[in-house]
Amino acid sequence: MTETAYETTNKFLQDAFDVIGLDKNAEHLLKTPSRQVSVELVIQRDDGSIGNFIGYRVQHDNARGPFKGGLRFSGDVNLDEVRSLASLMTWKTALADVPYGGAKGGIHVDPTELSRSELERLTRRFTECIHEMIGPTTDIPAPDMNTDAGVMAWIFDEYSKHNGFNPAVVTGKPVDLHGSVGREAATGRGCLYAIREVLENDGEGLDGSEFVIQGFGNVGSWAGRLLHDQNAKVKAVSDVHGAIYNENGLDTHAVYDHLKKTGSVVDFPQAEDMANEELLELDCDVLMPAAIGHVITEENADDISADYVLEAANGPCTYKAHHILEDRGVTVVPDIFANAGGVTVSYFEWAQNIQHFSWEEDRVNSELESHMVDAFRTIRGLMNKHDITMRTAAFVAAIQKVREATKQRGLQ
Ligand code: NAD
Repeated sequence: MTETAYETTNKFLQDAFDVIGLDKNAEHLLKTPSRQVSVELVIQRDDGSIGNFIGYRVQHDNARGPFKGGLRFSGDVNLDEVRSLASLMTWKTALADVPYGGAKGGIHVDPTELSRSELERLTRRFTECIHEMIGPTTDIPAPDMNTDAGVMAWIFDEYSKHNGFNPAVVTGKPVDLHGSVGREAATGRGCLYAIREVLENDGEGLDGSEFVIQGFGNVGSWAGRLLHDQNAKVKAVSDVHGAIYNENGLDTHAVYDHLKKTGSVVDFPQAEDMANEELLELDCDVLMPAAIGHVITEENADDISADYVLEAANGPCTYKAHHILEDRGVTVVPDIFANAGGVTVSYFEWAQNIQHFSWEEDRVNSELESHMVDAFRTIRGLMNKHDITMRTAAFVAAIQKVREATKQRGLQ
């Protein structure tokens, strides 16, 4: 049977538990979500018919602060996946040293089949159903796959109808509606800082390094454009429709303009089209999965030609694939570190909202950089101390913080 996303996360956690040497009760407590809710969402479609959808919110752990995590819209959303993503958020917020726990939400819907006004009704209905379990000091949603600043604005507005004006209930809002400058780019920018630290630690650098990016949405397109600005060579990118390739490197800003004009990266004039599966196996320094989970499995892990896999997406590698890659000498930069830039700048947005004060973009970016650099130093220290992979070291660092907070609060 194929491994589920939640099983993958728990296996990675177990590798770290074994290094720390926790007792089984503590392991159980740290693995198990605090609360998981599913809600039936009934909306009127534009043609007058009724549409039914299921929404989930899973709150994993709040020992270190309010639950925090994104909301995704996808036909692949299910409770198991949301549980896995909520758990990853607990470890990510701890590693990034932002004062939150972990949560995640999702609605099982193919957003391409709904109009913008149907998506608005769906988001508002979901917010209405869960408004009592979210809030600026309880649980703070943010964008994820197929959700954007506009969706966050609807959540803010709907929440405020029930609970009064409070923009800190959600992050990733439009900049002119209490959002933060730098938030939209933050996950991609954080990926760039993460891989820069890893490469420099290995005596290499971004300049001239070859990248391949799967997924050219918020995270992939920002990372691709920022990497291009640092003279890295982005040889191939993809989206759900297919992949494009240019051996001499793509002008990722021009690819982005093409995507905005046509709705896809495919058929970009200065590139060849190729299949998404082929893209993963291209020869490059850094392969960056920035789309969906479980794209690198035991079936294709041996065919990955990159030296580094930078997990911009959450959970792109199965447990076995991760070990195959590491055994082959491929360094996997784990999701809970690689994509922590998003939640880090979400924290800055939340802090600005609470203080009714705005930061300049330079401050956002430089504080983001500090959090990413500090997280890498912590990881590197633990890798050297225990002779463990970057992923296990990241989990060890995070678990120790959550465990300590749990003990100090007297929750166990
Ligand atoms: P997005 O919806 O903006 O973009 C997703 C991209 O992946 C699109 O280009 C889409 O076409 C592509 N894609 C979807 N299915 C695909 C498939 N089967 N094959 C190839 N490409 C496919 O989403 P995003 O916000 O960029 O999120 C991407 C990943 O990054 C997700 O795993 C998400 O959880 C993770 N992430 C996002 C954030 C954030 O701040 N948005 C933060 C941390 C982690």
